[in-house]
Amino acid sequence: MNKHYDMIAIGAGSGGLSAVERASEYGKKCLVIEDKVIGGTCVNVGCVPKKVMWFAANAASKISNASGFGFDIDIKGFSWKKLKQVRDDHVKGITSWYDGYLQKLGIDYIQGFGKLVDRNTVAVNGSEFTADRIVLSPGGEPGVPPIEGAEFGITSDGFFELKQLPKKVAIVGGGYIGVELAGVLNELGSDVEIFARADKLLTGFDVTIQEILARDYIGHGVKIHYHRSVNKLTKDKTISTNEGEFSGFDTVIWAVGRSPMTKDLGLDNAGIDHDKRGFIATDKYQTTNIDNIFALGDATGRAPLTPVAIAAGRRLSDRLYNNMPERYLSYENIPTVVFTHPPIGTIGMTEEQARNQFEKVKIYHSEFTPMADAFMRHKTTTALKLICVDLDEKVIGCHIIGHGADEMLQGFAVAIKMGATKADFDNTIAIHPTSSEELVTMK
Ligand SMILES: Cc1cc2nc3c(=O)[nH]c(=O)nc-3n(C[C@H](O)[C@H](O)[C@H](O)COP(=O)(O)OP(=O)(O)OC[C@H]3O[C@@H](n4cnc5c(N)ncnc54)[C@H](O)[C@@H]3O)c2cc1C
Repeated sequence: MNKHYDMIAIGAGSGGLSAVERASEYGKKCLVIEDKVIGGTCVNVGCVPKKVMWFAANAASKISNASGFGFDIDIKGFSWKKLKQVRDDHVKGITSWYDGYLQKLGIDYIQGFGKLVDRNTVAVNGSEFTADRIVLSPGGEPGVPPIEGAEFGITSDGFFELKQLPKKVAIVGGGYIGVELAGVLNELGSDVEIFARADKLLTGFDVTIQEILARDYIGHGVKIHYHRSVNKLTKDKTISTNEGEFSGFDTVIWAVGRSPMTKDLGLDNAGIDHDKRGFIATDKYQTTNIDNIFALGDATGRAPLTPVAIAAGRRLSDRLYNNMPERYLSYENIPTVVFTHPPIGTIGMTEEQARNQFEKVKIYHSEFTPMADAFMRHKTTTALKLICVDLDEKVIGCHIIGHGADEMLQGFAVAIKMGATKADFDNTIAIHPTSSEELVTMK
């Protein structure tokens, strides 16, 4: 039986689910197709299991530092197996909840690989389905370098499969996934070495964040090799780089970027424009060059974050089905957190970007050891930075590293999105004693 729908989404991750969910709320008949596990990257091999690991790593850090507050703790051990079990159960709880949820909303769901046949038709499991509108939300997959022995390493997907805590691990890549996994493994007790191609971690982030993260990681025993490109990996996990060989690892993790899952999606069958890497081009309304086909989330190559995919999906359906012709997602001032140890929160322009674009730039910066660490063996640095421009000192960037940065940023992001100036920050009464009060008291 081949059915016709108002909307078909290919990919049941953050973006696709959000588009059909909102469309169905407006009474539209929708189908969502998923090749792997409902929920997509975020739920299964991204944000959710990663955050569980981050919480576990935080617990390890708190326990090892508790003696500073007078606790005499006898640690009997740590079970990676138990941690994996509770994490996987947590993820399963979310994915099984989706089944009932889609049924309740009357959204059809098919497990299988969806492929465009033409601008109105999708093939899956040997059947074809048609729709007035098609949403492409296939997300991305972790990249593996095209080098000899790449198969002896794992990716972030493989990290979530690990049956035991690695003793000595090499992480190839200094981007956000690389530094997050490095932090988790280091806190849980692995020896961690990062091999970064650039001369810094977190390329594209503000220089203060890059420097302090690297300093804190090195202070906590993480080795960082800059300017290294890995050109071979052997079965015994020896890494060859442009500057020699490194060995002794039991695990090598590729954290070298992600690619869109668009290779076999049938983009050319429907004449959809995409770049060389397969990222789908859209206008600001998420519309591709084919006017009834839309693309969302990581496959568009813009701000690959869950809330971005969700917001784009919801706004798209608002626009198409709720008489809101100008509704779209602005990709400006998107706040984001990197779950390192300590975490990083960032929004808006970096100092470098601001100086390139504005004549009058004023930087406010504060750096200190947080009170929470005063009695700890392992101290971290908290740094907060505001990027202000023009005579009215409009705040166009905020960059924080330190305990609590992950929960600190959201409220400040509202203020910045609303166009707050430094004077608005100064007029806000501080909450004391906190680290975030520095943001409203900086001189
Ligand atoms: C390790 C890691 C940590 C992350 N942490 C965070 C975080 O802390 N915060 C944050 O905001 N973001 C985080 N992200 C990013 C976030 O997961 C993605 O931005 C988000 O999932 C993108 O949503 P999406 O809908 O574009 O794609 P996805 O969620 O990837 O969903 C796409 C789905 O489509 C399916 N699919 C692909 N092709 C087909 C096909 N042809 N037919 C049927 N199904 C198909 C895939 O199997 C997948 O399930 C993380 C990512 C990773 C890898």
